[in-house]
Amino acid sequence: MGWAFRRKKNIPGGLWDKCPKCAAMLQKRQLEESGGVCPQCGHHGRIGAARRIGVMLDAGSFVEIATDLKTSDPLEFAGYSGTIERSKKRSNVDEAAIVGHGRIEEMPVAFGTLDFHFVGGSMGIVVGDRIRAAAEHAFENETPLVLVSTSGGARMHEGALSLMQMAKTSAAIARLGETGLPYISILADPCTGGVIASFAALGDVILAEPGALIGFAGPRVIRTTIGTQLPEGFQTSEFLLEHGFIDRIVPRPTLKAEVAAILRNLMAGRERAAG
Ligand SMILES: [Zn+2]
Repeated sequence: MGWAFRRKKNIPGGLWDKCPKCAAMLQKRQLEESGGVCPQCGHHGRIGAARRIGVMLDAGSFVEIATDLKTSDPLEFAGYSGTIERSKKRSNVDEAAIVGHGRIEEMPVAFGTLDFHFVGGSMGIVVGDRIRAAAEHAFENETPLVLVSTSGGARMHEGALSLMQMAKTSAAIARLGETGLPYISILADPCTGGVIASFAALGDVILAEPGALIGFAGPRVIRTTIGTQLPEGFQTSEFLLEHGFIDRIVPRPTLKAEVAAILRNLMAGRERAAG
């Protein structure tokens, strides 16, 4: 499981990590306990799927689904199969989306998370199919859907097929929406490209972690395309909250409790409407 916190070369291996924001030397054990949040400055490090599941779901409740979906190389894109193999080793996951079901404060939910350590959390065919599988699981079992998104965007190695996942995932979310079952979308650093332009932006409630980069194109691409300097921090969670794109910024240590409270409210409202 990779951390955004890099190990310093002259530090005895495996025990310490350095915060990329405030440069504090932190014990790995401390970071385990804080879910990857720097106790000195509050920097939210990027965490992999296993850690994310641990942060969000009741211990031991997660059951993975859609594990039979395997990455293919439909365009025989140069170097892609090697990239996949390296990513598997580095991230300990077999694709950039891990989906299934579990419990949040004892409430059954369909749950999925992207893993930025696997080809930048990019969305190819398997990611699209797994997100759809999570939405269908929610639909069939009448549970809410909770997705955590962190992604560099569409997976270019799968060409136009990766762009088609935007429509596929959006349609699955729309179908769930017709039932009145809530979908909570959580945005973690960074959340960009085809993912933020599709299912990640479609939550009934959209939460973001503090300081996350969120946007369609990166600041450098926009600057060189339109030739204009953009306002400082215009693609952070905080800026987007101010401009109404997201509903709330929630620090990782209170994220699970916040999601549980929102789900309890929305599910009670749905029952009242039905009764
Ligand atoms: Zn720090």
